[in-house]
Amino acid sequence: MSNPRIKVGIIGAGIQGICNALFLQKKGYEVVLFDKEEPGNFSASYGNAGHFSPYASIPLNRPDILTDIPAMLLSSTGPLALKWNYVPKMIPWFLKFLKSCTTKNMMHTAKYMHQILDLAIPAYDELFEEIDLSGLVENKGIMYIWNNQNLKSRELEIKIRNEIGSEQQLLNQKEIHDLEPNIKKIYHAGVFYKRARHARNPGKICLKLFNLFLEKGGKFKKNNVETIDFLDENPILKTSENAFQFDKVLIACGAFSKRLTDQINEKIPLDTERGYHIHFKGCEHLISRPVVFSNRGFGMTPMEQGLRVVGTVEFGGLKNPLSKNRIKNLVNNAKYLLDGLPEHDDEWLGFRPTLPDYLPVIGSSKHHKNVFYSFGHHHLGWTLGAISGKIISNMIANEKTNLDLKPYSSLRFS
Ligand SMILES: Cc1cc2nc3c(=O)[nH]c(=O)nc-3n(C[C@H](O)[C@H](O)[C@H](O)COP(=O)(O)OP(=O)(O)OC[C@H]3O[C@@H](n4cnc5c(N)ncnc54)[C@H](O)[C@@H]3O)c2cc1C
Repeated sequence: MSNPRIKVGIIGAGIQGICNALFLQKKGYEVVLFDKEEPGNFSASYGNAGHFSPYASIPLNRPDILTDIPAMLLSSTGPLALKWNYVPKMIPWFLKFLKSCTTKNMMHTAKYMHQILDLAIPAYDELFEEIDLSGLVENKGIMYIWNNQNLKSRELEIKIRNEIGSEQQLLNQKEIHDLEPNIKKIYHAGVFYKRARHARNPGKICLKLFNLFLEKGGKFKKNNVETIDFLDENPILKTSENAFQFDKVLIACGAFSKRLTDQINEKIPLDTERGYHIHFKGCEHLISRPVVFSNRGFGMTPMEQGLRVVGTVEFGGLKNPLSKNRIKNLVNNAKYLLDGLPEHDDEWLGFRPTLPDYLPVIGSSKHHKNVFYSFGHHHLGWTLGAISGKIISNMIANEKTNLDLKPYSSLRFS
C-alpha cells in the first residue's frame, strides 16, 4: 500500500541497500540511503564474481565439508585460509557452523535458499527494465568444471539439485571444450547452469541502480551511521554531525551490520568470509562465460575490467590486511587453467557477510518493530539483491506473500 509520508532510512548502499531502496520507492515510500563510501566502490557488491546464480542453493554447511577442511587448509592451491590472530574471536561462529553441518540442517538451508534464489532473476528484471544495461549483463550461463578427485562432493550437489528441482546440465569433456575451448583440458566433467547470468561490471550496475534511485527522488547521505537511538519507537540514525529521525530503518551494511545489531541488543552471529579478486587486463576474451574450477574453489569471469579471477574463503575478520599469498593463489590457479596470462592488476579484498547456517537475515528486528534487516547473504548477496528488497518492501508495507519467511528471521538465533 502506497504511503508517501512514511520515511525509511537505509544504512548501507551496497546491492542490498540499493535494491531495497528501489522496491520501497515503488511502494511510494520516501527513502534516504546512508553509506560511508560512494556507492559502487570497494564493497562486496563492487568486487564480487558477478554471478547471478539461481541454482546455487546447496550451502557450505554440509556434513562432508568437515572431513575436507584439514586438507583444504593445508593446500596452497585450495580455497580456504585463516588469519590465526582472528581464530579465537571466531570460535563461537565455528561452533554454530559445526552444529549446522548435519544433513537435516543442510537440507533446510538448501530448501529456503532455493525458495528465494528461484525468484531472484525475475525480481531483478523488475528493476533492470528501468535502466540501460547494454553490455553489462550476459545470458550465457555459468559453467563449473572438476576433475576426478572432486567427484564425491559434486555427486552430492547434483543429487540435491535434482531433488529440489534446480535446473542443471551435466557436461562431458567434449561439451566443456566446445563451450570454452581455451580452458586447458585438466577437467573430467562439469555442469552447466543455463539460466544463470553474469554481470560484466557489478560496480557499474550498482551505480546505475543508485542513479535510478536518485532520479526517483531518493536522497543519499555520505555518512557513517554511528548509532541508532529511539524516540518512542521511531528510530534515529546518528552520524558524527547529525541525527535523522525515520518511521522505519533498514540495516543493510553487509558484513558490517553486526556493529549496529549488537548496539540494539540483538546478538546475531554474523561474521565474514573474506574473498579476493584480481584482473588480467585484456584477457576477458579467453572465456565467454564464468567458469568455476570446483577442485580449487575459484572462478574466472569475463568483465569490462578484464578477466576477473575470484576466490578464497578466508576467516580473518574485517580489520586484518589483504594476504599476499591469497593473491598468489589466485594467480597460480588462473594460470593452471589458461595459457598466456600476463601480469595481473587490481588486488582486491572484500567481505562476504555470513551467518553460520548459511541463510541470510531478512526481516524485522527482535526488539524494535520499526527496524528491519537485509544482510548475511554470504556468497549469494549479489544474486539476492532484488528479491531481498522485494520481500522487505512487502514486510514494511504489511503485505502478505505466499513465501515462508520465518527461516530468514533473526529470531532463529534467540
Ligand atoms: C570475492 C567475492 C565474490 C563474490 N561473488 C559473488 C557472486 O558471484 N554472486 C553473488 O551472488 N554474490 C557474490 N558474492 C557475495 C556478494 O558480493 C555479497 O553477499 C553482497 O555484495 C553483499 O551486499 P551487501 O549490500 O549486503 O553488502 P556490501 O556490498 O558490503 O555493502 C554494505 C555497504 O554498507 C556500508 N556501511 C557499512 N557500515 C556502515 C555504516 N555504519 N554507516 C554507513 N554505511 C555503512 C559499506 O560502506 C558498504 O557500502 C561475492 C563476494 C565476494 C567477497
